[in-house]
Amino acid sequence: MQKAAKKPRAVVNPVEWTPAESAELYGIRNWGAGYFDIDEHGNVTVSVPANGARVAVSLMDLIAGMQQRGLQMPALLRLDNLLEAQIALLNESFGRAIQALGYKAEYHGVFPIKVNQQCAVIEEIARVGARYGHGLECGSKAELLIALAYLEPDKGYIICNGYKDEEFVDLALQSLRLGFKCFFVLETPTELPLILEASRRLSVRPMLGIRVKLAAKVEGHWNESSGDRSIFGLTTAQIVELVDALREHELLDCLQLLHYHLGSQIPNIRDIRGGVLEACRYYVSLKQEGATMGFLDLGGGLGVDYDGSQTNSNHSKNYSLDEYSSDVIETIMTALAGTDVAHPVLITESGRATVAYSSILLFNILDVTSYEPGEAAPVVPAEEHELVKNLHEVLSGVSIKTAKECYNDAIHYREEIRDLFRRGQIRLRSLSLAENIFLHIVWDILAVLQKAKRVPAGFDDLEESLADIYYGNFSVFQSLPDVWAIEQVFPIIPVHRHTEQPTRRAILADITCDSDGKVDRFIESGGLRRSLPVHPFVEGQPYYFGVFLVGAYQETLGDLHNLMGDTNVASVRIRDDGSFEFAREMSGDSIADVLSYVEYQPQQLLEQLRRTAEQAVRDERITLAQRQALLESFSASLRGYTYYED
Ligand SMILES: *Cc1c(COP(=O)(O)O)cnc(C)c1O
Repeated sequence: MQKAAKKPRAVVNPVEWTPAESAELYGIRNWGAGYFDIDEHGNVTVSVPANGARVAVSLMDLIAGMQQRGLQMPALLRLDNLLEAQIALLNESFGRAIQALGYKAEYHGVFPIKVNQQCAVIEEIARVGARYGHGLECGSKAELLIALAYLEPDKGYIICNGYKDEEFVDLALQSLRLGFKCFFVLETPTELPLILEASRRLSVRPMLGIRVKLAAKVEGHWNESSGDRSIFGLTTAQIVELVDALREHELLDCLQLLHYHLGSQIPNIRDIRGGVLEACRYYVSLKQEGATMGFLDLGGGLGVDYDGSQTNSNHSKNYSLDEYSSDVIETIMTALAGTDVAHPVLITESGRATVAYSSILLFNILDVTSYEPGEAAPVVPAEEHELVKNLHEVLSGVSIKTAKECYNDAIHYREEIRDLFRRGQIRLRSLSLAENIFLHIVWDILAVLQKAKRVPAGFDDLEESLADIYYGNFSVFQSLPDVWAIEQVFPIIPVHRHTEQPTRRAILADITCDSDGKVDRFIESGGLRRSLPVHPFVEGQPYYFGVFLVGAYQETLGDLHNLMGDTNVASVRIRDDGSFEFAREMSGDSIADVLSYVEYQPQQLLEQLRRTAEQAVRDERITLAQRQALLESFSASLRGYTYYED
């Protein structure tokens, strides 16, 4: 194992390479949804709608803009235009389906705040959403406060899910007086007495909905939210009980909405149709029971095609947005045909699909570890151990025919030699020589296999096990928690250098020094791979990567592992002429910030060290000038970024 190869040896004469080949290799046109591509200079671009056409900006220009403003890597880049574009697409897609199929009611989306609670995001959604009557979904009191502050009363619905205490209920009921269209969704029968009491006390009649537990089970990672054992929603027995209670209190006319949520990232359109169909049966039944109804809320689940495969794999979806909207509308129309129930106002709570595209995590590479043999052919001294000599013989016999046998022999001898070392029977230098010979053998095998037309079985993980480790200036735990927690796959690609062939393969490690702080699942030409094609790292030259589609769920699920804090954030708006403005800049956490999150007092830390240093001066171990320099370094670090600073 060698550190940072200064002169990368993999390919001596890189072949001609075009940005189009890179685009193909990384599948950017499959997962980029038309927003991301690579330009003729080999830089990744983001392209946004502008005056009916599109305008593209290079991410390298945006990175330069960030640096000119003192925003170092790692940084989260938010593109307001993409948030706007996704909200427009969602509303326009439903609008078209409603018109084309002759549906007799409107569509209104609500954005579930939990998917990205950041102020800049909510502000933009509220601003753009006002055009379409796009509202907000709240799962807690804190989120309700956000919704009441950012929505205008007559624009968009507020859907309150989750457990509600008296304060929550009082606040939501009072908001109705201002004209807010704020629904309580009853998740359990125990919430009703609270609402009855508050409604009587405040003389406000509530807007009520109920969340139903559907029997339909869905595919995908989040299928636990579906099925009759899901933890949320009312059972049929509870629904009947609730309807009776509402009738008894003369509030059945307040029951207007039916809600369900099958879970996030539903990969298969069949499951979406199944859910809608079942929900319609409940809707009609509630209407027949005498509830007013009028609103059907399908929850979230609209998927994002992270791997670009357009399949029903967990990281993809086998349907387009237009298919989603027209299938939903068509299913409702079919289900209600033959009843006298009017088409309900349709609500969806799409979070992931609304915000995923709008954020990109950018980071630079700090260092590389290569698993490469030394340049020179290994020389085995005559007195060396027999097993090392045997291993060396394997090296001279590598060919396409013998590859498999050589590979097995090499692994066998290396294991034996490692054993000898563990028992103290050979020296470190012999072991090191053996490891080097081993690397020569496997790289030679890799070279002959690359020439072979068909790679024989048994070498599947050879390439992966030889992949370099590229150390990135970021924390998986802070910025990509789902990569660690649920093996989520995000598209990752170098932001520049796509006029050069990416001749190496690597996995990415973060700077937390945690063995889980790595990314080793990547998207390549539509498939998943355990390593990523990368360019040789050249020391002293910046090399930037982007992790795409990270706008949903990543920002506040992240934690302070190793006290790596929030990254810098820049919100950018691209103008129609292709210029851009930095709408917002937010500095990430300083070290003092993260220390105070875990209850340290930065001033007190400084004071404690000052005392130690003072004592050292008294003991004449350091000079006063040295004491001063040390304390100044400490203070500067407190103010500094938690990530690697240049
Ligand atoms: C999380 C959640 C959503 C968002 O789902 P997405 O798949 O992100 O669209 C919607 N509704 C409820 C009730 C949720 O809990």
